[in-house]
Amino acid sequence: MVDLVSQYARIRSEIDNAMASVAGSARFIRGPEVKLFEEEMAEYLGVSSVIGCGNGTDALQVAMMALGLKPGDEVITTNFTFIATVEVVALLGLTPVLTDPCPDCFNITPEAIERAITPATRAIVPVHLFGQCCDMEPLLDIAARHNLFVVEDCAQATGAEYIFSDGRRAKAGTMGDIGCTSFFPSKNLGCWGDGGALFTNDESLGERARSITNHGMKRRYYHDITGINSRLDTLQAAILRVKLKYLDSFNRARSDAAAYYDRAFKPVPGLTTPCRTKYSDHIFHQYTLKVADGRRDDLKEHLTANGIPSMIYYPVPISEQKAYSYLPFSGKPFPVTGELSRQVLSLPMHTELDEEQLEYITGCVTDFFA
Ligand SMILES: *Cc1c(COP(=O)(O)O)cnc(C)c1O
Repeated sequence: MVDLVSQYARIRSEIDNAMASVAGSARFIRGPEVKLFEEEMAEYLGVSSVIGCGNGTDALQVAMMALGLKPGDEVITTNFTFIATVEVVALLGLTPVLTDPCPDCFNITPEAIERAITPATRAIVPVHLFGQCCDMEPLLDIAARHNLFVVEDCAQATGAEYIFSDGRRAKAGTMGDIGCTSFFPSKNLGCWGDGGALFTNDESLGERARSITNHGMKRRYYHDITGINSRLDTLQAAILRVKLKYLDSFNRARSDAAAYYDRAFKPVPGLTTPCRTKYSDHIFHQYTLKVADGRRDDLKEHLTANGIPSMIYYPVPISEQKAYSYLPFSGKPFPVTGELSRQVLSLPMHTELDEEQLEYITGCVTDFFA
């Protein structure tokens, strides 16, 4: 699905130098590269604070802790996401409220959010799924009208841009109160292990989030709030500093591969290529097809037989997951999420796909439908 070995080969000397410099300093925790990366990332995003942390799941947890959400508060998000989004809400004793996504762009819709709001609603968590932003302008408007926090889960959309109706552009994760991302190796900006970050323009919220990632302390051994231990390693920060310089070109390489897939698949009846909205670019964390007529699993088998990996993101709606059967949404009908979980198939997508590989993959897919 991803080829991080070939990507490493391309930027090997820079990465090796960065790692050697950390090894030489032995400042593995809170070394200077962490602060430098946070500053460079903030500059790239056009945001005032970036706070590194241990992974994307922690970023979401820290965000909700920093916002002071309390047990019983309702948090509206989508049923069609990676479990982390809902898991942290549940872990904090908050009440996740799920919505059915847009069947075309796969993201949460303003209409569904409006319908899900109750007097207990405190926050909305839009997930910019597969590399494309949710429709943030109406979402931010709803949040402002109902006095709700917006926590963006941009783990799959680092570097994607939202386009407001006046033409202004903003990076995913910088539009709500706080943005949360992951640097898991296969993400668009990935390190060599676990890593994550929070983005915010609210300085006091940023300070609270930073202190939560470090046991709730500002001054060493003085704990003002309950925190956790969730830090971005210096080695990971050093790798991320190198990779951040390439992020836009990496995202362009993904887009080029997606355009190749599109050209091959558009004419194929039974396949729906990823939709491109007018309000967001698409950086293709995943290239996800919809396969009609119950043929998805057969196509997947056909690809496997021909040595092509493919993945189903996500095969089981969160509303059907055993761990969350105690929550009010459990077992309720979510027709769009259900349909998507039966139709979606993601193809190999990374920065190193060459023409020969794309030709082979698209050939195998179109042969299946011929
Ligand atoms: C990857 C991911 C996360 C979690 O990130 P980790 O670094 O693996 O903890 C959260 N939300 C979404 C949508 C993701 O894709």
